[in-house]
Amino acid sequence: MTRVLSVTSECAPLIKTGGLADVAGALPLALAGQGVQMRTLLPGYPAVMAQIAGAGVVWETDDLFGGPARVMAAEIAGLHMLALDARHLFARAGSIYLGPDGLDWPDNPLRFAALSQVAALLADSGVADDTAGGWRPQVLHCHDWQAGLTPTYVQIFGTAVATVMTVHNMAFQGLAPVAMLDALGLPSAMFTSDGIEFHGRISALKAGLVHADALTTVSPTYATELMTPEYGMGLDGVIRARAGDMTGILNGIDGAVWDPAGDAHARQFSTRKGKATATAALRRDVGLPATGGPLAVVVSRLSQQKGLDLLLDALPAFLDAGGQLALLGAGDAGLERAWRAAADHPSVVVRLGYDEPLAHRMIAGGDMIVVPSRFEPCGLTQLYGLRYGTVPVVARTGGLADTVVDANDAGLRAGVATGLQFAPVTADALARALARAVALYAQPSIWNTLVRNAMRHPVDWQASAAQYAALYRRLTDPP
Ligand code: ADP
Repeated sequence: MTRVLSVTSECAPLIKTGGLADVAGALPLALAGQGVQMRTLLPGYPAVMAQIAGAGVVWETDDLFGGPARVMAAEIAGLHMLALDARHLFARAGSIYLGPDGLDWPDNPLRFAALSQVAALLADSGVADDTAGGWRPQVLHCHDWQAGLTPTYVQIFGTAVATVMTVHNMAFQGLAPVAMLDALGLPSAMFTSDGIEFHGRISALKAGLVHADALTTVSPTYATELMTPEYGMGLDGVIRARAGDMTGILNGIDGAVWDPAGDAHARQFSTRKGKATATAALRRDVGLPATGGPLAVVVSRLSQQKGLDLLLDALPAFLDAGGQLALLGAGDAGLERAWRAAADHPSVVVRLGYDEPLAHRMIAGGDMIVVPSRFEPCGLTQLYGLRYGTVPVVARTGGLADTVVDANDAGLRAGVATGLQFAPVTADALARALARAVALYAQPSIWNTLVRNAMRHPVDWQASAAQYAALYRRLTDPP
């Protein structure tokens, strides 16, 4: 058994704002069959503490960046959770990352440095649980900038543990003013351009990329994209310098949560004619009339990354061709306004907010799911779409390029097509892809083949979990 501590700022089903939570929640279960024992260290936000009430204390300190802290262990939903209970850092209402003003909590650098430092300390001392002699991880698996300083603290403390840094999204880098070096317990000697400095500031993500033993990101295409100035967001040089240590490992999805045959939120699917029933149910649910055209869905954060402004521009032609659209999303105020206005059209329904059950019903009921991201490290909703026979229409970038096979003539003839890709990522190219989708939808034998191919495409964790397990083993038993 390889013992791995996953260090993450969110983890489904306890606390989720995006795909990172899904991955952190699913990976330990997928790895259990691969000889890996994974525990998960997560900040003790109020929502987390409420769910682990009654857990035992396995580690504590009087002073973690200005206040007492302890780690509580509990098993929840099959996961071995270690919650970092530090009231001065995490006991606050609202978003886990943003204050009431919609901006990052000003002490975010400290909050997540604390998480990272405790991971390094736990690797040194071990966790005093019921395991004989305590449980000591051999690998710390650090997710995104919030865990980015972990490998740096490991280095500072001289802890004997291997570290893996995974980039789920290069756009979030965890920058902090240089004046915080002391407060974060970071020696100024590390503040160099080949260390933790990023243009005059401390970068937690860069620190992880520089100091971790191995790097991964969530798709092979994103791994290569990260080496380019276009996608590397200023850190492409760091990734290029460590190209030999970087692996792209695709995310899978939790097949028990996203299961067309047993979806707790979209039961219609359990019948043989499930897809048509789910589509009819979704139309009733959101108040769209039945038509002969396809129903497209979107479930997404509304941010510049996701390219939903491009969809606004491509929409009129799609609607003129008989398409309908249902969008579920939340985020950027300008995009929310624009989408609210788009919903004036009788064939467009927009639900603003975060709604897990509705996300399931939309993905179960859509004929196609549109993901026009400008960049997409992996993307999960196109994977849900594949599983539910909701044909993905995606930008050819990152994990979208790796998981969807375009329904061009060759792809259709070879019987491998699962969706539609478009490039470049522009409104025109998206409009053309949507026009192709409408034309294919009008040919039921071709469309049904596409749906069947999509549903057969493997989207589970099996292959990827094996890759992570092999990576951990490589780090713990070097040849
Ligand atoms: P990202 O992590 O960049 O937001 P991903 O595609 O990797 O993108 O993961 C997004 C996750 O969040 C998916 O599980 C998706 O279903 C979910 N999601 C996004 N927006 C919403 C929403 N408004 N309501 C419910 N679930 C949502």
